Amino acid sequence: MRLLLVEDNEINQVLAQRLIHKRGHKVVIASNGREALALLEIEYFDLVLMDIQMPEMSGLEVTAQIRRNEQATGQHIPIVATTASAMKEDRERCVQAGMDAYLSKPLERDSLFETIERLTGYSKKSVAPAASSGTSDPVFDRGAVLASLDGDSDLLREITGIFLAQAPRHMERIREAVSTKDPKNLERAAHALKGSAANLLAQEVVDAAAKLEEIGRLGSVAGSSEALQGLEKKLERLQSALGELEKEFARA
Ligand code: MN
Repeated sequence: MRLLLVEDNEINQVLAQRLIHKRGHKVVIASNGREALALLEIEYFDLVLMDIQMPEMSGLEVTAQIRRNEQATGQHIPIVATTASAMKEDRERCVQAGMDAYLSKPLERDSLFETIERLTGYSKKSVAPAASSGTSDPVFDRGAVLASLDGDSDLLREITGIFLAQAPRHMERIREAVSTKDPKNLERAAHALKGSAANLLAQEVVDAAAKLEEIGRLGSVAGSSEALQGLEKKLERLQSALGELEKEFARA
């Protein structure tokens, strides 16, 4: 199959691409809605995986546009929403925008392929269930992350590297949004950091970033300085855990 992945977060791109390739499908990545619409004009895809939260054009807007374009042709490409939040209202908004299914991120292999193969009528014998994650460490649970990546330590190394490179940029944007009292950019930057940390199952950082995202979403920056301090502490712990892991990888 040929899939179109519409996703602005680099770690999410890498992870989804790896999962899809392992399953033997092809994937093309669009980093924003405009790119996605342009690709759909010129290339054939069996299905679209659509991030909801993206700067400029949201996944809901892109989907609505795709459905409008299809009115002329009578076609219907399956579109699967992928989102970090799993709120019921989101699910309803996705259906209203014309999406066929909804998955929460980080994407879980079995439900990803069950969903896309069901929607496209593609059949392949069922895959083994993922290993259970066991106990969880709120800073960074290496065993659980590795299990979620199918034991692929090269992939863990790759996303750890991307995370460590990206995190300071995300933090810079968050700090700037707090100091310039810019709720919209606060929401975006905190969302980006949250999404990246979620792939590492770094629950403390996910929760701390989610707090700032929510503050921004409510349209003010009230309480953001305290929340930022909390995030900074938690991110430091995560960075040091990941730094240790990188050293280990380097020795291996
Ligand atoms: Mn996004």
